[in-house]
Amino acid sequence: MEKEKVDCGFCGGKTELKFETLELLDGKVILKQQPYYKCKKCRKEFVSSEQMRETEKEINSFNVLRPIISTGRSLAITVPADLAKFYNLKKGENVRLIPESRHLLKVKIS
Ligand SMILES: [Zn+2]
Repeated sequence: MEKEKVDCGFCGGKTELKFETLELLDGKVILKQQPYYKCKKCRKEFVSSEQMRETEKEINSFNVLRPIISTGRSLAITVPADLAKFYNLKKGENVRLIPESRHLLKVKIS
């Protein structure tokens, strides 16, 4: 299904298709055999946008309950460490909050 021949977007080297099982939220969410590419030259790992879409489709069916905490005058919601890693979130970076309705607030990661 997946195209085997994808060149590395960083160095142009040859890549190999690999699979990994992702465990999120202390194993409550398990995404089995997620495909990704690994460059044989520079060893960087990356996913194609199609692979990312597939993973997103699976992850869509899960949610996690988080308490609201206060930091100074703002309210904050913490992101569990493994989700932060999955989305490659880093302290100091910005995310965008998108109000969808009275009951849904989306977080967009650029
Ligand atoms: Zn490379």
